[in-house]
Amino acid sequence: MKCKKCGSVKYCKAGKVRGMQRYKCKICQSTFTDTSVRGRPLSQKLFALTLWKEGVTLSKIAEQFDLSTPAVWKWVHVLEKQETFQNKGS
Ligand SMILES: [Zn+2]
Repeated sequence: MKCKKCGSVKYCKAGKVRGMQRYKCKICQSTFTDTSVRGRPLSQKLFALTLWKEGVTLSKIAEQFDLSTPAVWKWVHVLEKQETFQNKGS
């Protein structure tokens, strides 16, 4: 696992959130959990999130990535939560 923000592997444990281990990066000081979205490259998921923020519907995004709408919703939901979480920390 790498830091979700800067990609560093220098991090330490920083307590638990909702039963999940939380880590704090020693380089950029951001905190993150080890819940990574699996399957597709992160860049693709971030692109999906960008599209969604721009007002593209989930079904359109799902079509573009050849995925089901619930799968895309999950990406967007998870990534948005991570973003909010990280912004709060920095
Ligand atoms: Zn970092």
